[in-house]
Amino acid sequence: MKCCVCNSVRVVRLGKVGAKPGAVTSDSALIQHPVIVWRCADCGHLQKLHTEDDWRVIGEIYNDYAGHRLSSGREQLVFPPGLPPRPRSYHALEQCRPKLPARGVLLDYGAGDGAVLKSAGKLLPDWQFQALDITNKFREEILRLPGVVGFTSGNPAQLPRAHFDLIVVWHTLEHVPQPSNMLRTFHQWLKPDGQVLIQVPDVARNPYDLGVVDHVSHFTNATLRFCARSAGFEITADGHPWTHNCLTFLLGSPEVLLSTQLPITPQCFLDEDDRRVGSKINGIPIVHPRELRATTPIVMPFLAETSRAIALRLASQCPGLKPEQFLYAD
Ligand SMILES: [Zn+2]
Repeated sequence: MKCCVCNSVRVVRLGKVGAKPGAVTSDSALIQHPVIVWRCADCGHLQKLHTEDDWRVIGEIYNDYAGHRLSSGREQLVFPPGLPPRPRSYHALEQCRPKLPARGVLLDYGAGDGAVLKSAGKLLPDWQFQALDITNKFREEILRLPGVVGFTSGNPAQLPRAHFDLIVVWHTLEHVPQPSNMLRTFHQWLKPDGQVLIQVPDVARNPYDLGVVDHVSHFTNATLRFCARSAGFEITADGHPWTHNCLTFLLGSPEVLLSTQLPITPQCFLDEDDRRVGSKINGIPIVHPRELRATTPIVMPFLAETSRAIALRLASQCPGLKPEQFLYAD
């Protein structure tokens, strides 16, 4: 048994949810199946460590999934003060819009019945949208939505690399077996300054979420932050007030965020990923560390332990770099 976020073996069984074996599915059907919740003693993540039998039951739920069953197929509304009621994805995207470019390409990762893409079509009229989902159930319906240019079902490996300005992962992360690993894969599909918009249930404000049999993860603000950071992202916006029972984060790359805080514009970004080398972020080139000849300081956007390890490794691998060039908080 290992934590699904940090891989620690120090996971503690908290016990069964409820006095009876009845549980619910995320599409709001009742099910007779016991659910057991565990907590990681290292990262604090609340989770279910599903057995093969649990995954078989969940597979049956997904085969006949009826998203938004209780609202006749429509997305849940939020009631923000001073604004008319609106779908929760519309509200979150509207709050994020000032931090997004005027034109871009959006990937809806786990598009379901297309709720996010309907909102995006209204708010981001000059963007292109692509959808990915495990099934083809809503393929034709989604392809007819304004701005949608592609639909991928099944294997995300087919997605184009370094292509997207925004990946939306909407009520999906709580379903996957290894959420941090999944977020880490997003780096390959995002442009260097691309962002990720996440929404998941907030177990601190909705503890009944523990009884949803196919929710593997039960995030709090702190554990979702940890999950995102361990996948190499930094929180650009925390939408805690946007939806009363959900966590909503806009994530970006830590180096882009740090660069906005520096007194001078950086000469370049360093990246060991050859697919990103040669691109630009806000006009600043991305360079491989082995190509750097300058003796200017290198600011590290990581905690001390990680920064030190990377600095020592790069200095030993790249003849042009010295350990004392790297700056980080100690
Ligand atoms: Zn953990």
